[in-house]
Amino acid sequence: MKIVNPATEEVIAEVEMADAAEVDRAVERARAAFPAWRAVAPGDRARLLRRFARIVDEHAEELARLEITGAGHTAGNARWEAGNVRDVLDFYAGAPERDHGRQIPVPGGVDVTFAEPLGVVGIIVPWNFPMVIMTWGVAPALAAGNTVIVKPAEWTPLTALRLAELALEAGLPEGVLQVVPGEGEVAGARLVEHPDVRKIVFTGSTEVGKLIGAKAAEQVKRVTLELGGKSANIVFADSDLARAAESAPMAVFDNSGQDCCARSRILVQRSVHDDFLARLTEAVREVKVGDPGDPASQMGPLISAEHRERVASFVTEADVYARGSCPSGPGYWFPPTVLAGSSSESFRRAFTEEIFGPVVAVVPFEDEADAVRIANDTAYGLSGSIWTRDVGRALRVARAVEAGNLSVNSHSSVRYWTPFGGFKQSGLGRELGPDALSAFTETKNVFISTE
Ligand code: NAD
Repeated sequence: MKIVNPATEEVIAEVEMADAAEVDRAVERARAAFPAWRAVAPGDRARLLRRFARIVDEHAEELARLEITGAGHTAGNARWEAGNVRDVLDFYAGAPERDHGRQIPVPGGVDVTFAEPLGVVGIIVPWNFPMVIMTWGVAPALAAGNTVIVKPAEWTPLTALRLAELALEAGLPEGVLQVVPGEGEVAGARLVEHPDVRKIVFTGSTEVGKLIGAKAAEQVKRVTLELGGKSANIVFADSDLARAAESAPMAVFDNSGQDCCARSRILVQRSVHDDFLARLTEAVREVKVGDPGDPASQMGPLISAEHRERVASFVTEADVYARGSCPSGPGYWFPPTVLAGSSSESFRRAFTEEIFGPVVAVVPFEDEADAVRIANDTAYGLSGSIWTRDVGRALRVARAVEAGNLSVNSHSSVRYWTPFGGFKQSGLGRELGPDALSAFTETKNVFISTE
């Protein structure tokens, strides 16, 4: 596989793709490494994960560079991502010693529960946040005593391969964390089918997530699914309109809109709709799109020519209300684009389907009930934002919107110490936060007779 810098179209690396037989060998190594890894004393497993976090920190700039050149991420984002990998490893390094069961009162003996590791865990990763999404699965899975095989996305395997090397440098035993680059339908599919892989963590499209869920069900294999989104940014007339409008562009155009949490539908109360659109247009024109290595750039290119074509297919000239600028010449550039004031079939499609690019669609709503109805009129339910100065309304709407991660008067939805995941067809299960370990363990109940 040729790995291409999406900002220049230059080939920066070539990576060998694993076939099914190579995946089988990786599973065998992971299976062989499991008994010794689960037996590592909790404090020692914690120390190894902390050392892994420290070595990631020492290589943060190198990892960030790989994500800038290999995935087109802006320097600011890529550095945050390398820091997030370190922090997630550090956070779950605190877990092995806290991975305790319970003692439940029963007559005639003692009843205790154990949180047992599952065995070999397969983690299938998309291309939009390669090292971050990989680590959200890897860190708690390893902390719980599992061995892990990561299948990175075809276009973006470089940071995953480097992280596997850094894990060895940190002292993680051979076979505990492996990275197997390969095609989804070959290497990914084999991980899902392999009977010795006990759990699949899949982040990617809802379409592929459904296939994986169905395949895994044949073996009652555990799954965590983090899938697509079409999140709503709901702006009420009583909100701080200036802040809502200024912050709206990067809530959807960050990472060039290639973000499952992108607030790609903006719902604005009718009485402030035109005012909001005027402010939004101004903010969109100020978004700096350019060389991702330049610290001033807020948005880089799309990941590939193929993806740019897909994004472009959602934009019909007559629906365009405003547009930012982007470089011309080599690179898969696409300008930040606002669609509004239309009721055409093409607008409808852009408003309902996940575009995964820098395109946002704006519609008016009448009142609170109307806003909630429009926000929930989608098969997805990942994230969303609510802008209002009325605390009661903020809470009512936050409880009524069917989504896993909501923010009020802000757009933040991902912190490594709070749970993350989707309602409806945006996923199954939760990552991050205090409970992620339970997604990588099985509860075992043991009764010991005292008679
Ligand atoms: P994708 O579904 O095409 O691919 C994701 C991964 O699955 C890749 O590694 C791919 O090789 C692999 N794959 C493809 N077919 C497979 C198969 N049949 N069996 C096993 N593995 C297979 O998704 P993508 O285009 O890489 O990523 C974009 C999608 O990911 C968007 O829909 C986005 O919303 C979603 N996403 C969700 C989250 C979340 O946390 N909810 C986070 C990031 C991205």
